Amino acid sequence: MYDVKHWIAGEEADGTGSTQPILNPATGAQVGTLHLGDAATVDRAVEVAREAQHAWAQVSLSRRTQILYRMRQLVIDATEEIAVAISREHGKTIGDAKGEIARGLETLEFATSITQDLKGGFSENVSTGVDGHTMRQSLGVVAGITPFNFPAMVPFWMHPIAIATGNAFVLKPSERDPSASNIVARLYQEAGLPDGVFQVVHGGKETVDALCTHPGIAAVSFVGSTPIAKHVHATASAAGKRVQALGGANNHAVVMPDANIEFAAAQIASGAFGSAGERCMAVPVAVTVGDVHDAFVEAIAAEARKLKVGPGDDPATDMPPVITKEARERVIRMADEAEQAGATIVVDGRGLVVEGYEGGNFVGPIVITDLDRSHPTYTDEVFGPLLVVMHVNNFDEALELVNSSPFGNGTAIFTGSGHYARRYQEEVQVGMIGVNVPIPTPVGYYSFGGWKDSLFGEHHAHGPEGISFYTRQKAITTRWPRQDEHVEASMSFPTHD
Ligand code: NAD
Repeated sequence: MYDVKHWIAGEEADGTGSTQPILNPATGAQVGTLHLGDAATVDRAVEVAREAQHAWAQVSLSRRTQILYRMRQLVIDATEEIAVAISREHGKTIGDAKGEIARGLETLEFATSITQDLKGGFSENVSTGVDGHTMRQSLGVVAGITPFNFPAMVPFWMHPIAIATGNAFVLKPSERDPSASNIVARLYQEAGLPDGVFQVVHGGKETVDALCTHPGIAAVSFVGSTPIAKHVHATASAAGKRVQALGGANNHAVVMPDANIEFAAAQIASGAFGSAGERCMAVPVAVTVGDVHDAFVEAIAAEARKLKVGPGDDPATDMPPVITKEARERVIRMADEAEQAGATIVVDGRGLVVEGYEGGNFVGPIVITDLDRSHPTYTDEVFGPLLVVMHVNNFDEALELVNSSPFGNGTAIFTGSGHYARRYQEEVQVGMIGVNVPIPTPVGYYSFGGWKDSLFGEHHAHGPEGISFYTRQKAITTRWPRQDEHVEASMSFPTHD
């Protein structure tokens, strides 16, 4: 048993006195205690951050870069420690946890190019004797609010860029798996980041709402479910903040008649059941086109049946537990309701028990066909190891089905046809698209973000849009007349002569 407290001013800080258990999803047992925050905790964190940020924004770009380089090595050296903490609290396999740390490091590596990315433009003689230039400056104190499913990677989408651009960053991680964030805070300190530039406050709605309305916070980055993304976007925007709020998803993979079926089934199985389907880029829906349906269902069922379900710290495990008992019950209920509505349960993981882990939140892979397109088990985000296979007659029907979803996070098309792959990229209303790639998550030096109900705000996360989100531009026009120069003031609007 351990305690997880806030990280403020370079050290652990007590909370309000109220606490919450941290549970291991594989056993159901309490492993730690989380100290929760409130408006007063947020006040203190913001006050410390404001002071630290003034000095941090004056630190040279090369010194900032050196700290990020040191941080990169410290995270690499601590990968095992972070991955074990993630697996214990989130449930995912150690290998999957190491993967998310590596993907998070991509953004930190991108942020080490800040000397290049913060260069402004300069134009000599925009008018005769007048020069123009631009520069990008930090916003001040910015906040990140993150979900349980990637406790390392999603915060890493935010803090390296926010810090590199001269901001102070206050992180409010998920209360389900908070430990990784405190390890990261300790590593930033070891890397030489001044205290107060990266801080962690824990908690739930009260802490989030305090961050969204605090006058000392200039911008909020949020990643989580769509209802909370809407709430954060509305609340923080109304308080005058810049907001990017990434929401939920219901990603479709289209399987065309000319696809390599074995390949598509293996790839879609990894998208549907990897990390127990708890990825915002997971593939909970496959759409078979034309006469490929039966062969695909047979192939994906075979893939699902061979998965070994077990605890995340067992190297033999393919699929870990889901996050909570409630999440497990929800997945089972959604399969029950589909069955009651006449759907066929092709692979049924509902009754799965993992020997020795009877208290864990395990549910086996579920594959469902013959479900109506209006049923909530198809239309809603399940966020568990449940794949619905829908069937349509042709490409246009597939496109119409995908575009009718309120979500637009990710999608994939499996095909041997360049023509259909190209049409799909052009016509689908989704932010991230894979061609024969099930989880098309952009690398750290591009930007990540969906369309429609999967993102609220103007900016996608990390990459160039991250730089843009965490900075604002000044455009400066300069003229240096000779001491003795006399020019008549003109009352006309100036031209570019
Ligand atoms: P969540 O929305 O429940 O929680 C996200 C954050 O919001 C957490 O820090 C939580 O403490 C806070 N929160 C929860 N309820 C709140 C409330 N009522 N008021 C204010 N704050 C509240 O999401 P989750 O269950 O942790 O994560 C899973 C969801 O995140 C899924 O919907 C998934 O698709 C989504 N997600 C999206 C992306 C993306 O890039 N679009 C990435 C990862 C996860």
